[in-house]
Amino acid sequence: MQTDLLKTVVIVGGGTAGWMTAAALATTMKGRYDIRLVESDEIGIVGVGEATIPMIQLFNKIVGIDEAEFIKATQGSFKLGIEFVNWGRVGDRYMHGFGKIGQDLWTVRFDQYWQKMRALGRAQPLEQYCITRMASRQNKFLPPQPQLPNSPLGDIAYAYHFDASLYARFLRGLAESRGVRRFEGRIDSVSQRPTDGHVDAVVLAGGQRVEGDLFIDCSGFRGLLIEQALQTGYEDWTHWLPCDRALAVPCESAPTLTPYTRSTAHRAGWQWRIPLQHRTGNGHVYCSQFTTDDEAAAALLANLDGKPLADPRPIRFTTGMRRQAWNKNVVAIGLASGFMEPLESTSIHLIQSSIQRLIDYFPDRGFNPVDVAEYNRQSRFEYERIRDFIILHYKLNQRDDSPFWKACAEMPIPDSLAHKIELFRTHGRMVRIDNELFTEFSWLQVFEGQNLVPERYHPLVDLQPEDAIAEYLEGVREVIAKCVEVMPDHQAYIDKHCR
Ligand code: FAD
Repeated sequence: MQTDLLKTVVIVGGGTAGWMTAAALATTMKGRYDIRLVESDEIGIVGVGEATIPMIQLFNKIVGIDEAEFIKATQGSFKLGIEFVNWGRVGDRYMHGFGKIGQDLWTVRFDQYWQKMRALGRAQPLEQYCITRMASRQNKFLPPQPQLPNSPLGDIAYAYHFDASLYARFLRGLAESRGVRRFEGRIDSVSQRPTDGHVDAVVLAGGQRVEGDLFIDCSGFRGLLIEQALQTGYEDWTHWLPCDRALAVPCESAPTLTPYTRSTAHRAGWQWRIPLQHRTGNGHVYCSQFTTDDEAAAALLANLDGKPLADPRPIRFTTGMRRQAWNKNVVAIGLASGFMEPLESTSIHLIQSSIQRLIDYFPDRGFNPVDVAEYNRQSRFEYERIRDFIILHYKLNQRDDSPFWKACAEMPIPDSLAHKIELFRTHGRMVRIDNELFTEFSWLQVFEGQNLVPERYHPLVDLQPEDAIAEYLEGVREVIAKCVEVMPDHQAYIDKHCR
């Protein structure tokens, strides 16, 4: 018999994190909990965060978002991967495409056969075995075709680019229509119970109290509840990911709507390019220890598709994570829980997975400490695994043109990452621990794209005759090329299906 159920959930913040949480909880809880959201128009939202990874489709499905309507409402586009320019060496260019590479056939994974044949000069570049990479090259897009389960066309992984402000507005409409009550105003103070320090209300500038049993802190970098009230503490990862500032600027769109994000490395950081229907989003993430704000702005503005539509907007951050995402009756989601630079577009995914975890461990008034500890353990695991993948891009560079890149190549790295690099360096092996976010295909593309060639390949590859392997690789390559031929142009797909 359940007698100690919570009644009221208060979400503090109306950015992407706040409204995603509100939409998901309202959908899941079907009106049985009172869900309130407090946001301040005066403070506004961070307003960046426009590129995603494929798991967002699951979120949209859970909250019942129609894809075409969503793309239209957010001026969105489709995303098949991320192109990395100048990351290994200046002039290098590779793509991290979503989804699979190749097609498994025998005992050992596809890429092991490819490694052998590459060494023998009998394989094509890796991208030719990946449908999302080849489609990106030709600016084509098609969602997976369920009627073709055995074709690469039946297995196309994709995500979205969208305008962050329009996305928050879209989610707000959805959440409010499902009963979420919105309170507008600046929170001036946070009230805590004297007995156990649990938050019992937030107090707005005009004196209004918004009371609740469970508080979700989506207040952005300031961490109004989790840090300013509860002083939970923050683990700083700047020694591994030293970029600490960004400048963001929208510009006029390019004539071609590309179905991928681009990340171009500069002398002390990198620049994102996110193609939307009505504009291109750009930003320069950089390290203030190695460059000035003026130099960073100049590098950004020199690399735009078209005229800037505003002045570059500065953002400062400290990479790392909150020591506990869940503390007492406060769960931090979004930037309030931590920050990693958007190199692999992971922040919105972290919001989504936090929401899912909160639903999995949704508390009653007892706030079971075992559940809270498990929630925090899983959050940490997820953060650390993503962190390692992002560090890999920096560590694995061969650039000698700037002190920043040399420092990154020489920096000590977490043992967990060193282990993964060593596994790949020796035999091209990769390990995915406990269903971590990035698959072997992702790791492979960054290792390969940034010029780490394994010393050997898997010994069992030699069980197959060379000619048979060559034929196998060629077969996969040809099928992918034919599939891409029939895919429509990205812009044409949007014009036809999302208007
Ligand atoms: P915010 O958007 O900052 O929202 C905070 C909310 O809290 C606001 O509504 C504000 O009004 C409210 N608030 C704060 N204080 C008070 C107060 N005192 N009273 C009342 N209300 C208050 N993620 C991706 O997935 N892909 C990307 O490409 C990507 N790019 C990024 C680039 C940069 C430079 C940065 C910094 C982040 C990027 N992110 C990206 C992360 C993404 O922007 C965030 O995860 C996402 O926007 C969520 O932000 P948020 O809702 O946590 O915070």
